[in-house]
Amino acid sequence: MIPQDALKTMKGLSDHGFQAYLVGGCVRDLLLGRPPSDWDVTTDALPSQVMSIFPQAVPTGLKYGTVTVPGQTGIEVTTFRQEGPYLDRRRPENVTFSKSLQDDVARRDFTVNGLAMDATGKVHDFVEGLKDLHSRTIRAIGDPHERFREDALRLMRAARLACQLDFSVEPQTLAGIAANASLIQYVAIERVRDELLKILLSDRPSKGMRLLHETGLLAYIMPELQRCAGFEQDSKYHDKDVFEHALATADQVPAMTTVRLAALMHDIAKPLTYIKGSQEGESHFYGHDKKSAEIAGDVLTRLRLDGKTVATVTVLIREHMSRFARPGKGLVGVKRLINRVGVDSLAGLFELQEADIRASRPPYDFSMLERLKDAVDTVLCDKQPRTVKDLAIGGSDLIEWGMKPGPEIGRMLDKMTDLVMRDPSMNSEEALKAFFERQGILPKNPRA
Ligand code: ATP
Ligand code: MG
Repeated sequence: MIPQDALKTMKGLSDHGFQAYLVGGCVRDLLLGRPPSDWDVTTDALPSQVMSIFPQAVPTGLKYGTVTVPGQTGIEVTTFRQEGPYLDRRRPENVTFSKSLQDDVARRDFTVNGLAMDATGKVHDFVEGLKDLHSRTIRAIGDPHERFREDALRLMRAARLACQLDFSVEPQTLAGIAANASLIQYVAIERVRDELLKILLSDRPSKGMRLLHETGLLAYIMPELQRCAGFEQDSKYHDKDVFEHALATADQVPAMTTVRLAALMHDIAKPLTYIKGSQEGESHFYGHDKKSAEIAGDVLTRLRLDGKTVATVTVLIREHMSRFARPGKGLVGVKRLINRVGVDSLAGLFELQEADIRASRPPYDFSMLERLKDAVDTVLCDKQPRTVKDLAIGGSDLIEWGMKPGPEIGRMLDKMTDLVMRDPSMNSEEALKAFFERQGILPKNPRA
């Protein structure tokens, strides 16, 4: 199962008298039968020696001893390291190269990430990683407090790995995370975001998100969501607090970044919009869809997600209640919804609403959602007009009919779009001209 590129790289090193092992996540994943996301080789050869054995190699992280041997897979080769003091809570101040594999694995974060494998497939384990792999445990190598204080990204990595691999976090390690949670503030937000997205795209995001909450990390990463935890909805439609409802929703939507993020935050403003009902089980959250979209926009911008993702997630959240809206005459409301959401995001919107229902109190009522889906199908299959571009006439026709070029043209076209959205039979040149003439902007014959 080891790719040829990795075997060739290891052989190249050993032919020159150096040691070479696969190490870290790829060994862990190979042993678990999961496809590794990248391949790391560790060696006693210095970066300059690796470069001379593989002239095509690229110095991708020389300061830390890493060169990349290109190929189909791309193998990162890193010299055995021992690390100097960590000063910025993220990267060691300097690295010292070592001659021993044992030194190199001792600097790694968790025991299951400290396994090495030679080219024959033999596993070298100095940190009892195999034992933890079998019992499905994330355990810090060495003293957990020290390891998290050295590099606070490990706080997130622990939660992410436990979630992705469906492992549990060993109690001392868990206590180490909780005690040092505040240090996550010193980690670049992009790194935190990447770990969070890996949690969200895993098989069961709820597990990772619950870990973030229980360890106190969530309070730093997404305080807006933290305040949903334990917020009871006092509603006959719900059987979970706002946080647990969000997690159940996220678990049930497909593993796409935008839809998972929308599921996670679709009700994030509920604590802010809560109004106690006159009777038990009848509380209200007026406008929580719009307010949640706003808050989610702030959260995602802070996490430096790209503009397109932010726009898609916020529109999904803003429209997550759209099944309750009236379809309107000629399905005009549905057409406006399609225009706001965009055809490409409709499937995601339906997935979000279906998961939202399933994450609420049974019995599940999909009837409004089915009605909405049918209406959208009708509009799209019949190619019913819903934008200015779909009009049977254009601005030049209006000018020909006597209008002066200028902003009035745009307003007239919008009016006509509105008309044909309500009544598609009006979308012909004759009907639109008749409508135009009825507007009384112009005398019937402008030259008269
Ligand atoms: P993924 O499946 O995302 O690749 P991974 O554990 O392989 O997970 P990488 O970032 O590829 O993560 O790192 C490769 C290896 O380097 C890890 O398995 C671990 O041994 C070591 N490592 C990575 N980040 C750290 C860290 N912050 N502190 C200590 N060791 C680390
Ligand atoms: Mg990896």
